Amino acid sequence: KDFRNNIKPNWCPGCGDFSVQAAIQKACAANGLEPDELAVITGIGCSGRLSGYIKSYGFHATHGRSLPVAQGVKMANDELTVIASGGDGDGFAIGMGHTVHALKRNIDITYIVMDNQIYGLTKGQTSPSSEKGFVTKSTPNGSIENAIQPIRTAMASGATFIAQSVSSDIKQLTAIIQEAMNHKGFSFVNVFSPCVTYNKVNTYDWFKENLTAVEDIEGYNHTDQKAAMNHIMEHEGLLKGIIYQDQEASSYQEQIEGYLDQPTVKKEMTLERETFDDLMAAFR
Ligand code: SF4
Repeated sequence: KDFRNNIKPNWCPGCGDFSVQAAIQKACAANGLEPDELAVITGIGCSGRLSGYIKSYGFHATHGRSLPVAQGVKMANDELTVIASGGDGDGFAIGMGHTVHALKRNIDITYIVMDNQIYGLTKGQTSPSSEKGFVTKSTPNGSIENAIQPIRTAMASGATFIAQSVSSDIKQLTAIIQEAMNHKGFSFVNVFSPCVTYNKVNTYDWFKENLTAVEDIEGYNHTDQKAAMNHIMEHEGLLKGIIYQDQEASSYQEQIEGYLDQPTVKKEMTLERETFDDLMAAFR
């Protein structure tokens, strides 16, 4: 199974997004998917180009709107595996309202954020996940705001699958994305994906020094929510691995009686013609 198409990405050489793309393609192949069983929906930003670079159904949504589109695709056709993706600006600024509600709603899709802690496409401004004190052309004296904490936000929003990785560790990232796609419910994967052109602070080396693998924490149990929350607070969210998973939670779709019997797109429309016309008349 090959999820490569013939479009050459136009990311800067060394951009972390290349490895995220490769990890998604590897994970889809390893999970036995076919390209026509996958839909990749993206927002706006350098990472938003991803939907054009993977052989699958794809849709490049407007800024911050990958999640509403992706959830709609899944609700229309539950037989598709749906991945939504975008950057930290897309998901944690203009799209934050959608992110929090998708986290709590638990529709069975995977959301991969390529978090480079800067706006790359618009040439280097401070983003929601930039650290306090971060100097860019939009904050020349250093950002005076606190950074959004994606993992803490996900946990506080009731997410049932939370993972974090870094694009330089393709092996771990691939394994995490495989697990995320297998999770029954909304799976959130925050990937630190360095912007080599504009972010000279949060580099590959910086993540190597600052991330702690959950496997290296003695007794770490990713199904224990309270313990996971304590570790997130202790390590300031700089963990990598599957941080929390509720393996018992029911997805949104599972809770709707009869929904999973047949995908919505294959269901017969049961409205009588007269009723349908009345309905349409009400909107005129
Ligand atoms: Fe990647 Fe940054 Fe270049 Fe955008 S500007 S393609 S995020 S390295």
